[in-house]
Amino acid sequence: MYKDLSAKNNCIICGKHCENGIIIKGKVICSSCEEKLVSCEIGTDFYEYYKDCIKKHLVPSILRDNVEMNEYLR
Ligand SMILES: [Zn+2]
Repeated sequence: MYKDLSAKNNCIICGKHCENGIIIKGKVICSSCEEKLVSCEIGTDFYEYYKDCIKKHLVPSILRDNVEMNEYLR
């Protein structure tokens, strides 16, 4: 249980444990990555990398949520 909780607090971009990042769909982005993301320009390698991380980590959980919702609706 404790392990699960701490894994959820790992930044999806740098993988570091963080206590006060932003949480999207149960995934955490630490404040330093959030700062980088906000300050880097769209279209740069950095931006693409962060975007990829967000896609990889957030899209599956959004899809999973939708599947669960569909199952409830059936
Ligand atoms: Zn981070």
